[in-house]
This record gives sequence, C-alpha cells and structure tokens, in this order.
Amino acid sequence: MPSILIVEDESPIADTLIYALETENFSTTHVKTAQKGLEHFDSHAPDLAVLDIGLPDFTGFDLCRKIRTLSDVPILFLTARDSEVDQVLGLELGADDYVTKPFSPRAVVARIRAILRRGHPPLPEKSNELLYHHADTMSITCCGTSLDLTAHEYKLLAILLSQPGRVFTREQLLEQAWEDPGSAMDRTIDAHIKALRAKLRKHSEDAAQTIQTRRGLGYTLVF
Ligand code: CA
Repeated sequence: MPSILIVEDESPIADTLIYALETENFSTTHVKTAQKGLEHFDSHAPDLAVLDIGLPDFTGFDLCRKIRTLSDVPILFLTARDSEVDQVLGLELGADDYVTKPFSPRAVVARIRAILRRGHPPLPEKSNELLYHHADTMSITCCGTSLDLTAHEYKLLAILLSQPGRVFTREQLLEQAWEDPGSAMDRTIDAHIKALRAKLRKHSEDAAQTIQTRRGLGYTLVF
C-alpha cells in the first residue's frame, strides 16, 4: 500500500484528499506544518509527498529543498496561485508535478498514480509468499507458517484470497462462508475480520494490512 505524506494546513483540503486516497487503497499521513512534515522523514519513508506551498511556518518550497537533502521521494505541489506555478516550474526544486487549487481529488489521485508508476517499478505483483491458501489441506500459511484459524476465519480469508483486489460485500462473505447466513449479522463479519487481522499481525504487519476495509462497501484483500 503506497504511503502518502500530506503537508497541508487547511484541514478541509487535506480531508478530501485523504478520503480520495484511502478509497483508492493508499495510506496517508497528514501534518499541518512544514516542520512536522520534515520530522516525518526522521522515522518514515513515504512513497510520495504532497506539499502545500502556503504553510504556517515556512513555505512548501523551503520544505521541498530540505526534504531533498534527505530523500528523493516524489513530490507533488498544491499551488494556490499562478505565481506559485511559475515558481514550481522556475525554481528547479525537483518537484515531480503540481496541481492548482481548487482541484478534483480524483485528479490528484490520478497524478499520484502516474508519478508512482513513472518513478518506481510497478506495485508488487500478487504474492503467494505472504499468504498462501493450501486448498487440499484447507489451511493458509502466512510467511510460510500455518495460521491457526477457526473454520469461519479460514473460509473468509480463503474467499478474499481467491480474488485479490475484488471487493466483497458483507452479505457476499456471509453467504459464502456461513452455512446459515440468516443467523449471522453484518457485524459478525466485522468481528471475524478483526480477529483475522490480529492473528495475521502476529506473523506479519504486511499480511495484516492486506485485508482492507472499503468503507460502506465491504472488504478486499490487496497484496
Ligand atoms: Ca495553505
């Protein structure tokens, strides 16, 4: 899951971007000052940084220069004025792209995808090393270790693993994993997914994060 750092002091702008990105399976970190943005690099290596230019402490341009001494992370600027666009283009800051406010969050997500595709190898292929379903023995291994799952947890994970990337609604999961779906409720699925994530997390945080919640829709498994 690509991680995106957003440095933007206006929460409504950041929130629409976060929502659009998380809907598309990006993980996001939002900070409101350039200093916090810079500090993020002490402990994290985001896959891309989105920088507002008018920040309360120092400008996005200055932040970009400082980041460049630490990292060659792709950078997308959010510009509010034409004069800022000129600066992005003129200063040779090493920015990868810019969008002008007001922007469509979906367009920004598309730009981000394009930048990541350009600058990095394609997102990881479906991997069967992290999670592997052994249909013959009805077991699932995580990083080579067999998971200790209840029957329902096993069925749920096997269903999700059968089609990575496909979103399954709670109703679909109930129908396929429960013999008597009428007796169970939507939140039964949520409880089992929570338990599954906890079990996966004991083996691998990456494995736990493969099961993703699509708010208002259901669940999907993404490698
Ligand atoms: Ca601002």
